[in-house]
Amino acid sequence: MSASHHQRIYCVHCNAEIESRYDLLVSLSFFSLSAYHTSCYAEVSKGQSIFISNSPVNGAEFSWTSVFAFLLGMILLFIPKGEIGGSGMWSLNVILLLLPFARVSSWYIYERHLDK
Ligand SMILES: [Zn+2]
Repeated sequence: MSASHHQRIYCVHCNAEIESRYDLLVSLSFFSLSAYHTSCYAEVSKGQSIFISNSPVNGAEFSWTSVFAFLLGMILLFIPKGEIGGSGMWSLNVILLLLPFARVSSWYIYERHLDK
C-alpha cells in the first residue's frame, strides 16, 4: 500500500483531471456524487437552478450540516417511531443519515486521492 498510488479524478463537465483538492468540488444530485473543477461547477450551476440549492459536499457548510444530521439521525434512531410520527419520521431519518454518508463517500471516492 503506497501513498503515491493515487487514483486520478476527472471532472464530469470537461473530462480533464482535477489535480488539487482546492480545485475539487463534489456535488450531490439525485443521490449520486459528481466531481467538478471549481470553475466548471460555477459554469454548470449557472444554467441549472437545481444545482445551486445544493451546497458542495466537500464544503464546510455541508460538513457541519452532516455532523448535525448524523447526531440527530442517531438520536432519532433510538426513539420508537410510533411515538413521534411513524413512517414520515423514518423517511426523515434516512435523509438525515444519508447526508453524513454522502460526506464520507465524497472523501473516500475523491478527496483522499488528492493530497494538495
Ligand atoms: Zn472541469
